[in-house]
Amino acid sequence: MTTPMKTKVRFAPSPTGRIHIGNARTALMNWLFSKSQMGDFILRFDDTDVERSRREYADSIEMDLHWLGIKPDLLVRQSERFPLYAAAAEKLKSIGRLYPCYETEEELDRRRKRQAARGLPPVYDRAALSLSDAEKQALEAEGRKPHWRFKLEHRIVEWHDLVRGSCHVDCASLSDPVLVRADGTYLYTLPSVVDDIDLQVTHIIRGEDHVTNTAVQIQLFEILGTHVPHFAHHNLLTNASGEGLSKRMGHLSLTSLREGGLEPMAAASLAVLVGSAEAVRPIASLQALGALLDLGRLSRAPARFDEGELDHLNARLLHDMPYADVAERLQGLGIEGGEAFWLAIRGNIGRLQDSKLWWSVVQGPVAPHALEAAFQTAALESLPPAPWGHETWAQWTAQIKAKTGLSGKALFMPLRQVLTGHEHGPELKALLPLIGPEQVRARLMA
Ligand code: GLU
Repeated sequence: MTTPMKTKVRFAPSPTGRIHIGNARTALMNWLFSKSQMGDFILRFDDTDVERSRREYADSIEMDLHWLGIKPDLLVRQSERFPLYAAAAEKLKSIGRLYPCYETEEELDRRRKRQAARGLPPVYDRAALSLSDAEKQALEAEGRKPHWRFKLEHRIVEWHDLVRGSCHVDCASLSDPVLVRADGTYLYTLPSVVDDIDLQVTHIIRGEDHVTNTAVQIQLFEILGTHVPHFAHHNLLTNASGEGLSKRMGHLSLTSLREGGLEPMAAASLAVLVGSAEAVRPIASLQALGALLDLGRLSRAPARFDEGELDHLNARLLHDMPYADVAERLQGLGIEGGEAFWLAIRGNIGRLQDSKLWWSVVQGPVAPHALEAAFQTAALESLPPAPWGHETWAQWTAQIKAKTGLSGKALFMPLRQVLTGHEHGPELKALLPLIGPEQVRARLMA
């Protein structure tokens, strides 16, 4: 290759369930990497397994990615590309690298047990390679349909992994992988390579659970393509007790986080930074997060995280979030308090929807709270004249203090309770002007 190629990456989920925060890690690493190189991001649905793949899962994955801020430059579905895979399989057959095998699962299992008993590794013995044409015909006459194995070259395959550094696999220690099942459907390996070639993918960034596939895929790239893409295998996420995440774990699915009102950047910050050289902290934008991504400095160990971290990151993001970033969503929640309201309450919420509580406090009614008579009188008499601003609270409480001799908690707690119906909450100097003279007077008298 002489012309420099445009960077192209792909995120290739199988739409057999909802994607989780660990899949978000893969998607985001691909997205951030490609955008740092002005490259393209391809969303590829690995839906060759028509039984288990569902369109609704594919659609929800698209929505989840959109929520994270990922907008694919191209979307492909493997189920629409079978002719390409058939052509590749034919090519491999024609050069003797894809060969028919007739063993049943039970036969293979018995063979593996015999190998184990003799202390041999459970590697396929290539018995099918020595079948004569007559033997194959006899097997087919019995009603057996062949599955097809890729004949590996028994040599050491090496690559420079952008995360793991220099890697090598001795293919003599691997079974020839099945590429096509007896019913003619494809396993993941061949379609993946065919698409990566056809779509000119330059970098394959994926979880380290795929390291073992890489040597096989490199041999396929060498036969079917013109060059081998770069590989980067990132560490996987585990939950706090060290278990891997699975698509069946509904609660950490992006859909449930999205529907639960989590900020997408809380999920993105955790997904990218955990197990990296950077401390996990809330990052406000994908652009800023991209600047922190360094594939070469990812940890090699699994990255453990605690679900509680998501809530913590979410709260910290909201505490610093400018009004412009939430204005529309606040309106959607029926909140009209504008910037002053947002700045007053953002430090006291864990999720954006918690704003509703403080909006109802501003609007009233709030649970009535009885004040001592002398305190009530002093508070009513000291109310400063309108208009009210941020200094009003200090002026008012100084007057009450002078009249009652109360200070500290004895002064502030009854006021907080009578004004908000709560013992804790946003700073009263910010809430007071929002509640306004009329409501404050009414609450003091309730
Ligand atoms: N469909 C595969 C998966 O979800 C894609 C692996 C790859 O990126 O090559 O694990």
